[in-house]
Amino acid sequence: MLPAILSGIGVAGAAVWAGFQTMWPTSQICGRTFIGAPPGSRVLALTYDDGPNDPYTWRMMEVLKRHDVRATFFLIGQFVEQKPEIARALVAAEHAIGSHTWDHPNLIFSSQAEVRRQLERTRQAILDATGVDTKLFRPPFGGRRPATLRAVRAAGFEPIMWNVTCYDWKAKSADEIVAHAARQVRGGDVILLHDGGYLRMGANRTRTVDASEQILTRYKNEGYRFVTIPQMMNTPL
Ligand SMILES: [Zn+2]
Repeated sequence: MLPAILSGIGVAGAAVWAGFQTMWPTSQICGRTFIGAPPGSRVLALTYDDGPNDPYTWRMMEVLKRHDVRATFFLIGQFVEQKPEIARALVAAEHAIGSHTWDHPNLIFSSQAEVRRQLERTRQAILDATGVDTKLFRPPFGGRRPATLRAVRAAGFEPIMWNVTCYDWKAKSADEIVAHAARQVRGGDVILLHDGGYLRMGANRTRTVDASEQILTRYKNEGYRFVTIPQMMNTPL
């Protein structure tokens, strides 16, 4: 019975591994997703999730404007409906915007029909607020299954992940956020940050705002150019 037991462990181990892969941002096992330009590229993309968030999205925009940098914001549909003027301001400032679902479910547990509802309702909210019919999508928590990505693509969206996690949602200081970035940046990276909090409007993102100021200063000094996700997707090898 030993082979049977071993193969049982193998199956269980594989299931755990596959489950882990559905949440791991750079994993390609559930289908190809964009995670950055080729390593060593002299470009970086700042991405901000869970907004629009009053007043922190405004403060983030001030920092980015001071550095003359455009970033990419993945917006939650219900917050766009609450604060359409912030979504409009992002577009007016030439930042790229994408969808981050209507109310931030983990899509691993969502039916295909629910994924489609989340995508369409958010697409419409963003379109109504900004006039932009966005093609970019980032799954909440990075959660996706092959079926999730099929539904996302069928709805006309490109799934965008990231490869630098700054853990800003639980960081105790801006320095801690910057240190997480410094450990992972190697050029061509998509950096995950948050201008909002998915649970409610008004989540305090002071540390992320301060960390963004430091990250921009540091990597511009090192010769990196900050680009949006659409710009980075056109980055040649
Ligand atoms: Zn999120």
